[in-house]
Amino acid sequence: MTTRVCKLIGAPVHDGAGQRGCEMGPIALRTAGLAEAIASLGHRVADLGTLSPPPPRPASFPNPALKNLPQVAAWVETLAEVAFAESAEGMPVFMGGDHSLSAGTVAGLARRAALLGRPLFVLWLDAHPDFHSLHSTESGNIHGTPVAYVTGQPGFAGGLPTLAATVEPAHVAMLGIRSVDAAERRALTDSGITVFDMRAIDEHSIAPLLRQVLERVRALDGLLHVSLDVDFLDPSIAPAVGTTVPGGATFREAHLVMEMLHDSGLVSSLDLVELNPFLDERGRTATLLVDLVASLFGRRVLDRPTRSF
Ligand code: MG
Ligand code: MG
Repeated sequence: MTTRVCKLIGAPVHDGAGQRGCEMGPIALRTAGLAEAIASLGHRVADLGTLSPPPPRPASFPNPALKNLPQVAAWVETLAEVAFAESAEGMPVFMGGDHSLSAGTVAGLARRAALLGRPLFVLWLDAHPDFHSLHSTESGNIHGTPVAYVTGQPGFAGGLPTLAATVEPAHVAMLGIRSVDAAERRALTDSGITVFDMRAIDEHSIAPLLRQVLERVRALDGLLHVSLDVDFLDPSIAPAVGTTVPGGATFREAHLVMEMLHDSGLVSSLDLVELNPFLDERGRTATLLVDLVASLFGRRVLDRPTRSF
């Protein structure tokens, strides 16, 4: 097994979500034993602490529905810097925080990948594509926009910081999608993004879909960032999220994804987002996230050596 250096970074962003609570995510993940779980698998863990909310960044945008744009813009700028710096070595794990934080982390990782001359792939595990622009969002919750932002779609200028590097849409794969707004559906068509919705998972099962993605990353020697939204999971096993959608990934589907990601050896960074401990039931969602991360770092039921029988 490869020993990794894992850097835990708390990003208590709540300004992009429709309700408060995600700012408690980093504390809940620590309480549920995230660092201990990773360390118990033989990896080195450095907890870099929790970032403080940066002062709001002057930002204006002609959509009156937008909520907390100066606060989110400041977080995006800060997190892009942190993600760029901390991805120089080791594997950063961002403990959110709502999903708007990924606008920052992925922006910073894209800059790192560009510097290395390697493509950045993004695996978006979510019920939602988060593909609104600052124009098209009707809720005004900026956690619904990060994929459009990091892939350089129009509709962000003047609102969020200018990107140092974008992610190629063809290098983004979404898994678990089951709630898409009309504007997102239009924008996703011909975008080049791979979308595996829950029906695709039902019809083909999750492993062959993920295998396709991993083979592409490997073939192009890419970096792979995984962004895990709690609502990827079925609400019956993960209730602590403000945007529950029925029909999500099961316990075993989610673990299988993490186990395959581990076996691939390709994952270079991770976001854990949208955990809202205020909505949890006796910590069960935080505990499940820790167990999933453990699978990503190599916990397994049985050793399965590669040999012929
Ligand atoms: Mg999301
Ligand atoms: Mg979601």
